[in-house]
Amino acid sequence: MFRRSIYKTPAQLRSMVEPGLITAAALDAVRPLITPGVTTLELDAAANRTILDRGAESNFQLVRGYHHTICVSVNEQVVHGIPGERVLVPGDIVSVDCGAQFQGWNGDSAVTVVVPDPERPELVAQREELSRVTEGSMWAGIAAMASVSSIDEIGAAIQEYIEAQGPSAVSGAPYGILREYVGHGIGRKMHEAPSVFNYRTPDRGADVKPGLVLAIEPMVTAGGEATYVEDDDWTVTTVDGTDGSHWEHSVALHDGGIWVLTAPDGGRAGLAPFGVEPREIGK
Ligand code: MG
Ligand code: MG
Repeated sequence: MFRRSIYKTPAQLRSMVEPGLITAAALDAVRPLITPGVTTLELDAAANRTILDRGAESNFQLVRGYHHTICVSVNEQVVHGIPGERVLVPGDIVSVDCGAQFQGWNGDSAVTVVVPDPERPELVAQREELSRVTEGSMWAGIAAMASVSSIDEIGAAIQEYIEAQGPSAVSGAPYGILREYVGHGIGRKMHEAPSVFNYRTPDRGADVKPGLVLAIEPMVTAGGEATYVEDDDWTVTTVDGTDGSHWEHSVALHDGGIWVLTAPDGGRAGLAPFGVEPREIGK
């Protein structure tokens, strides 16, 4: 049976720049709308409009049984929340995951935003810290991709970063890392081999070498790691009711280095603290 290589050619990597930028634009359109009173369906509409305006299509809508452009997960929901009539309120921690397909190539990215709440500064601070830890762990994993030789080292970098942040103020224990949900290769399909675990694994995994494109996406909780799927068959929620956060970028490794496809600056700002400079994919 013919199996497509997980490593892309330089021309294929260049084809993934535009869907990455469109995915980033869709999330940029959603971000400022994450305010009290907005429904999660309104966020979905803004993302979809942006993707269609750029001549692309939502790849989430190509997933069997899913009919929206984003996943939006609020508070104790970590990932795969379905947009609907839910109205956001001050203090909510909101993770938005989105992807676009353009000329047969895919982007996939997620951000977490905390809705301001002047009445509950402590809650907001806890939730912003959870998001900061999660985002930082994503950048740690992306930075690792620039220099490691096998995929397991990316997961180890993510876990190490999270453990180094100390205990969660909510649980007094280390932040939780979801085990059943992981990052992935991305290309012609949104979800491709190989899996990218967000924690140390005994297997070394695939070689990290030019042509590899990964969606690196830690899913972190302020408490335990156990989750369940809600009755809607999609939403992944913490068993202990603590908050979740999800950050994701699609990242290409090429001959010159790494380039974050779903960040307009290629990841320059996020990678700076790790001493890694992204390199544009050559023409
Ligand atoms: Mg995603
Ligand atoms: Mg993904």
